Amino acid sequence: MIDTAAIKINRVAQSSIHELDVENIPFAKIYSDHMFIADYRDGEWRDLRIEPYQPLALSPATSAIHYGISIFEGMKGYKNADGEVLLFRPEQNARRLNVSAERMCIPEVPESLFMDALTELVRLDSQWVPNHPGTSLYIRPCVFATDEYIGIKPSENFKFIIITCPVGAYYSKPVNVKIETHFSRAFEGGTGYAKAAGNYAASLYPAKLAQQEGYDQLIWTDGKTHQYIEESGTMNVMFIINDTLVTAPASGTILKGITRDSVLTIARDWGMVVEERPVAVKEIVEAARRGEIQEAFGVGTAATIAQIASIGFEDERFQLNDVKTREFSNKVLVELDNIKTGKVEDRFGWTYKV
Ligand SMILES: *Cc1c(COP(=O)(O)O)cnc(C)c1O
Repeated sequence: MIDTAAIKINRVAQSSIHELDVENIPFAKIYSDHMFIADYRDGEWRDLRIEPYQPLALSPATSAIHYGISIFEGMKGYKNADGEVLLFRPEQNARRLNVSAERMCIPEVPESLFMDALTELVRLDSQWVPNHPGTSLYIRPCVFATDEYIGIKPSENFKFIIITCPVGAYYSKPVNVKIETHFSRAFEGGTGYAKAAGNYAASLYPAKLAQQEGYDQLIWTDGKTHQYIEESGTMNVMFIINDTLVTAPASGTILKGITRDSVLTIARDWGMVVEERPVAVKEIVEAARRGEIQEAFGVGTAATIAQIASIGFEDERFQLNDVKTREFSNKVLVELDNIKTGKVEDRFGWTYKV
């Protein structure tokens, strides 16, 4: 049993909060005062502690550096009108971290340890949670292997850390995406469903090539046939066609987004027709060509909703309808924002008060 009451706290001598301009927050440049750290050795999570945010000292033989034995999570905290800090569905991040952990031979982080570490850290740094519209505290838990060993085998030593940083509004502009039909992000039997470090490393080069063609993001297709839409960079993707909300099923090749689940839950609650099913590239391209895509957007923690302005496929580029006319995605963005910041009743029990 882990005694989570035993989180040792070593506070900063002086907060650096004054360096933050809340009206103009640079993305992930300024980190909050403190970080959480725990070490796994001899089969247990030990030395739970909150320290001043600082560099880690690691052996050059650290296995995470050489082999990418590293997983992470991403979530956000918000302030409500009373200045209390609310986290959005954090227990879902705790569960998903352990889904990723199993795939990468990383030991489980007990949900109680995850929640206690998170709560203590965010409570201590609550002044870092901004309250301007569109802003939030981004929270990044990460677990990685620390064996000093360059042989390839499952590690026996790990670190679990949580760092946080205030963030402003992300992706405010609608994005231009390209349907990728050469490179793959994931494949059956692979690690697509895990938030594993290597997945993101491997996505950078294809994304860079797309950016050179003038796109902002890729839409990944299945690794085998490239005929089915999977998801975007760090977002799941949804379309509204024929008044029906369609999205790819959360299979082994897709990261099961918490935002995805939340948007689908609200859509069903509003009586919208929802289909989680394979979405053919052909179907999307033909609908785009005929002007029948009513809405297209990415869903994820970073942006909540990222409107898609245009879709590129091979030599064609389809300009979609005006973002302002998109009823569902604009409405669900406001609804989710209101739930996250405690402005409306939390009818699904999604918020967690720190
Ligand atoms: C994190 C992530 C998402 C979105 O998940 P949320 O829980 O909604 O933030 C979608 N796709 C990928 C590849 C991701 O890494």
